[in-house]
Amino acid sequence: MKKIIPGIALSAMTIFSASAVQDPNFNYHVDNFADIEVLRYEVPGFANLPLNQKQMLYYLTQAAQAGRDIIWDQNGRHNLQIRHLLENIYTSYKGDKDSKDFKAFEKYLKQVWFGNGLHHHYSNDKYAPEFSQDFFVAQVNALDPATLPLLEGQTKDEMMAVLLPVIFDPTVMAKKVNQDGSQDVIATSAGNLYDGVTQAEVEEYYNALKNPADATPISYGLNSKVVKKDGKITELHYNVDGLYGPAIAKIIYWLDKAKQVADNDAQKEYITKLIDFYITGDLRLFDEYSILWAEDTASDVDFVNGFIESYNDPLGMTGSWESYVNFKDVPSSKRTEAIASNAQWFEDHSPVDPRFRKPNVKGVSAKVITAAMLAGDAFPACAIGINLPNSAWIRAAHGSKSVTLENITEAYAEASKGNGFNEEFVIDKATSDLLDKYLYITDMLHTDLHECLGHASGQLLPGVDPDALKENGATLEEARADLFALYYLADPKLLEIGVLDNPDAYKAEYYKYMMNGLMTQLNRIEPGKDVEEAHMRNRQLIAAWVLDHSKKNKAMEVVKKNGKTFVKINDYAKVRELIGQLLGEIQRIKSEGDYEAGNKLVQKYGVKVDPKLHKEILDRYAGLNIPPYRGFINPEYVAVYDDNGNIIDVKIEYTEDYTDQMLRLGRDWSVLPVE
Ligand code: ZN
Repeated sequence: MKKIIPGIALSAMTIFSASAVQDPNFNYHVDNFADIEVLRYEVPGFANLPLNQKQMLYYLTQAAQAGRDIIWDQNGRHNLQIRHLLENIYTSYKGDKDSKDFKAFEKYLKQVWFGNGLHHHYSNDKYAPEFSQDFFVAQVNALDPATLPLLEGQTKDEMMAVLLPVIFDPTVMAKKVNQDGSQDVIATSAGNLYDGVTQAEVEEYYNALKNPADATPISYGLNSKVVKKDGKITELHYNVDGLYGPAIAKIIYWLDKAKQVADNDAQKEYITKLIDFYITGDLRLFDEYSILWAEDTASDVDFVNGFIESYNDPLGMTGSWESYVNFKDVPSSKRTEAIASNAQWFEDHSPVDPRFRKPNVKGVSAKVITAAMLAGDAFPACAIGINLPNSAWIRAAHGSKSVTLENITEAYAEASKGNGFNEEFVIDKATSDLLDKYLYITDMLHTDLHECLGHASGQLLPGVDPDALKENGATLEEARADLFALYYLADPKLLEIGVLDNPDAYKAEYYKYMMNGLMTQLNRIEPGKDVEEAHMRNRQLIAAWVLDHSKKNKAMEVVKKNGKTFVKINDYAKVRELIGQLLGEIQRIKSEGDYEAGNKLVQKYGVKVDPKLHKEILDRYAGLNIPPYRGFINPEYVAVYDDNGNIIDVKIEYTEDYTDQMLRLGRDWSVLPVE
């Protein structure tokens, strides 16, 4: 549960600490459809890497692409079949490509690609096709019957009987992840992580496995699907002989090649462990891998490849498959190293009850990386910061690794230049100037602090179940990390360690954060809907709580100017105090496992939307034409071989467009059978 997703479309701003030299003519914009903009990112420095690192990155990018089908199937049981069908129609279509139905079909396919399935990656709502069912049926009927992606023994009519309501009926599989604790969150979620079981049955199943006295528990359910078989609840594990075996076999093949050119022995060792885990599905081995991985800070090339984040599981247990392939950005890493080396100081001075602080912060390592490939659940929409491993006891005993994806953040910022966002939403010129000057660096520092210190801070009281906060766990954990970051952004310590040069710089991030949490992030929500996604709930919770507690001292207000709503911060120091108070309370909730208090906070501040303000924000955004969500396509890597089949160089290319890339992935990396 450790990642940051960019909160708003960043506005134009000066880059305070630009790291790598970028191509000034690099074209970031790739495609636009529905509420999405697709960008590409540059990979500065790749061409100058030593050959073994280029080889390793190449093998890791193959391992990353090999797992793509897994996330599609995890996101919904019909996703792979539907993707094959849609791509088949798209590539064999002979009719009028300017017709309304075809245009709507193309938009839908692009949305489905972006969501890795039928649901929106962020709102979790099912996409609504804008072409007619008749059009769709006619296209399926026009296909060569031999090319239909039928299940074993299935006829075309049987397939259509299943898929038509799944695609066209808005009430069927309406939500990928339902977090409404008043309902059975398993039965009402469309994801494919459970089958035929109720929430109560799943909870009972895991409670029977969990031993509260176990100080080093495995991450229960991380790599399995819970099903009912002959009336008995059981887990089907993801491993080479189990679920997703064909994809996992390919991942293992490429990981093994990467291992042979690894930077050092420590890295070879953790890749071996990861392969062993993929073979056996044994979560003890995954813990052993995670420890070795967290402790390896010497390697320049690094990667994540596995079942990692559990946002797509309403109970927060099963990991969605993802991969990040990257290498270290050495100059920019000086910033995060300065923060990480003071981790104990930050922990000791944090505004929480001393019982909830970590007496010994273990090995928080932090670096800035250049992303080379995003895959699985991290593609096309990805995080800008990651902190892993997620296991609480491993983090406490062995530390964690925190990374900031600087080339991705830069791509966001560059692609936003001149979009008019500040002019529309920032209250005055002085604040806007402050944002221009300091938002880029304070945003980066916020990510660094959130990942490197925020998630790593604090401890549970003995015997507290790490899953005690249930469906609010992710929201409250993100709030805790954000509050920690916000609190320290305003601390003179950051000037002392040389990562900021102005004691007022933090105000840029404070203003943006509150404006986003109270107003601008509503652009991502459809009229009439609640806030659902954990990071968005967290941001609204913090901003709305601070506003509510500013009533007396007027530290922060919402004001009207020319009929438009603006956030006005009158006293930044008082806002910081409130942030410290809320951090203290949320840390208490986490440390004590106080579900009731956590649920009250989330429900009171994080979920509901003021419909009038919501409409105003949507109208103001509409005038700007800034898409609410963005994601990326990857560069292509082309290996150059000598006559003996050895890779002698790897070229990087940026020529594909969104559709090209998705169709290529569908052609080259459809590794799981439709079943
Ligand atoms: Zn986080």
